[in-house]
Order: sequence, then C-alpha cells, then structure tokens
Amino acid sequence: MADLTVFLRKGREASLLRRHPWVFTGAIDRVTGEPASGETVEVRAADGRWLARGAWSPASQIRVRIWTFDEDEAVDRDFLLRRVQFAAGHRQADPWLADTDSWRVVNSESDGLPGLIVDRYVDTVVFQLLSAGAEHWRDAIIEVLEGVLRPVTLHERSDTDVRRKEGLKPRRGHVSGTPLDGPVLMREGPVRYAVDCIAGHKTGFYLDQRANRALMDRLASGGRVLNAFSYTGGFGVRALAAGAAGVTHIDSSADALERARGNSQLNGHDPARIELLCGNAFEQLRALSRVERRFDVVILDPPRFVSSAAQLRRGARGYKDINLQALSLLPRGGWLATFSCSGLVEPRLFQKIVADAALDAGRTLDIVHWLHADGDHPVRASFPEGQYLKGLLCRVG
Ligand code: SAH
Repeated sequence: MADLTVFLRKGREASLLRRHPWVFTGAIDRVTGEPASGETVEVRAADGRWLARGAWSPASQIRVRIWTFDEDEAVDRDFLLRRVQFAAGHRQADPWLADTDSWRVVNSESDGLPGLIVDRYVDTVVFQLLSAGAEHWRDAIIEVLEGVLRPVTLHERSDTDVRRKEGLKPRRGHVSGTPLDGPVLMREGPVRYAVDCIAGHKTGFYLDQRANRALMDRLASGGRVLNAFSYTGGFGVRALAAGAAGVTHIDSSADALERARGNSQLNGHDPARIELLCGNAFEQLRALSRVERRFDVVILDPPRFVSSAAQLRRGARGYKDINLQALSLLPRGGWLATFSCSGLVEPRLFQKIVADAALDAGRTLDIVHWLHADGDHPVRASFPEGQYLKGLLCRVG
C-alpha cells in the first residue's frame, strides 16, 4: 500500500496528544503520497513520531478526522463493526432510554466515528454520512449497520449542508429492507410522535431534546404553554399529555404545524387545546405581547442562529430578542425553557445573553436547571465541540 502520511508543523501535535480528533489545514506541513478523498492517512509529528490515523478530506478546513489514536488498530470493516457495536451496546444498556423506542445510536466524533450519525426510530434506522471519511466507507458502514442493528428499514439522509464543506453532494433515499411509505410512529415516555424520516429535519426528529421535553411532565399541568419554534410539536404534545390547559405552537413552517396537530390527534388530545400560529416567531412573539397574552411556560427552541464566528454578534442579538419577547409573556412565577443549538455560542455566553434580556425586561430570572442534549448524544470529553445544544430552565421573578 502506498505510504500516505501527513506530517504536522513543529509544535502542532498538542491537540492530537490530547486526543482531539481534528487536524486543520494550518497545522499541516507536508503530505507524502496522494491520498484520495476519504482515504486513510497516518498522521505524524514534525519529528516523525506517530500520532494518529484518520480520514483525508481534501476540500475541508478540517483536513483530517481521526479514526484511531492506537497505532496497532487498522481502519477497516472490523474497526467500524467494533465501534458501532460499542456505541449500540451503550444505548441498549442506558437506563434513561428505557421509556423510548427511538434514539441516536452513533453520535459522530463522540462515538469515535467522525461524520457518522445513526438514529433508530423503532425498527427504522436512518444514517447520515457527513465527512469524506464516512462517505469513503459507505458500503462497509451499511453492511455493519445491517448486521448490528438488524433494521426493518435502512434509510439514508446524507442531505445536510455540512456535506458541501467536505466536497460531497447531498444524497438521500432508501437503502435496504422495506421502503418507508409514511411516517414512523415512535414512543417517547407517555406520548407518541409520527416521524417523517423521508423529508423531516435531520433524520426526522429532534431526539436530542428528549430529556428536556420530559420536563413538561412537571411544569405543564394545568398551565398555558407557548411552544415557540415548535417543529412537529415535540414539547407541546408532551405538555398536553401532562395536562396543560392549552398549547400555542409557533413555527414558520405550515407543514410542521400540521404535523404538530397530527401528533396531538395521535395522542387523543382535544383539538380545542391547541392553537397554531404560522409565521416568523420574532413577529409572532411581539404580536402576542401586544395583545397582552400570558403563558405559564414558554419554550424557545430556535434553529441554529450562529454557524460561523462572523454571525456571532447578529445571532446573539437574535437570541436576546426572542428571550426579551418571551419574558413579556410570562407572569411572576412563570417558567422559561430557553435553548441554543449554536455550538459557537458557549454556555457562559448564552447565560449572559439571557441575563441581558432579563435586565432589559426589568425582570429577575433564576436558573433552576442547566439543560443539554440527552445521553444518547454524548460529548466525548476530549471533543468539546460535541456540545452544541444548551438550555436554561428559568423561573421568572
Ligand atoms: N422544539 C422542536 C425542534 C425545533 S427545530 C422539537 O422538540 O422537536 C426549529 C424549528 O424552528 C423548525 O421547525 C423551523 O421550521 C422553525 N423556524 C425556523 N426559523 C423560524 C422563525 N424565524 N420563526 C418561526 N419558526 C422558525
């Protein structure tokens, strides 16, 4: 086999020695051989010391994503099998997943498989290949997923923007087993959701918010709930199941709101208890404030406002604005569950943004719980970038 080796610049091995799995272009001194996209390369320090083995990604700023830090470990089908088996075994034994039939099986870097996302919805398995390395191993990955997870349906949703950064075209569709002909009906605690794995967001559902949706069991009983950025109703449907008096969903997608309605129906909730507001949440929140509506619980779960450092300032303003609006809808003693899934907005910064909103609103806000993605979305300790979702559950004073 040709020698494909990436030599780092002097002193640039520090992050790899701490087992961080990315090599940026700026850290690379030279490459021997001509690795193809996704091919496995050895990574060595300037002095020749072996550091790691990873996937070459010629189009990306993240030029190598590390598969293994063990020199004796080959990257092959067996390697993928071991990693997927290990990740799947963790979920199987996870006591927090006992009351659901759907979870993330493989969480990319945090499961030692950069660029591979695998979600299970009952018997349907949906995967995303988001890096040149994952794409290179596509056939082997499919074989491994079929063997380990034994899905009735295997479906691909490699159709996210991040593929472009890796020089890859989007791909989605049926892979094996029984083709999907409608939504998958999943269970999460006391409720059921219909999940559209074919055209829904990500692989179909925001599995990462599972534990936070469960907060509704304690907060929503008898109350009026505002579910802003509702998507297919996740938080609100859970709130209705917990006995909320009413739920108002806001989303800019009419289709998502129809699905929220469908999910309420699926759970036998009285349609009179839901209100659907289609439009830009920034405006809808203002409109509710103008007519002096009040809610006992407000959930803000917006899409990612910040995708690059250049968007930080604008994104921060966006987060502050919706939190300010939400506060105007909450009486003393009300609850605000506010989230950011922008990785670049770190927890401390997010707290500051929310604190600034409270200051402008002239309200006291007490953080009762720090929130994050559920345990099937682990964050590998050596990979802080894995922590993208953060939230605050606040009591309003
Ligand atoms: N809380 C949901 C996930 C929310 S995803 C759950 O638990 O399943 C974010 C949602 O915000 C998407 O449905 C998207 O359609 C919606 N959205 C994006 N920008 C918006 C805007 N400006 N106003 C209202 N909704 C918006």
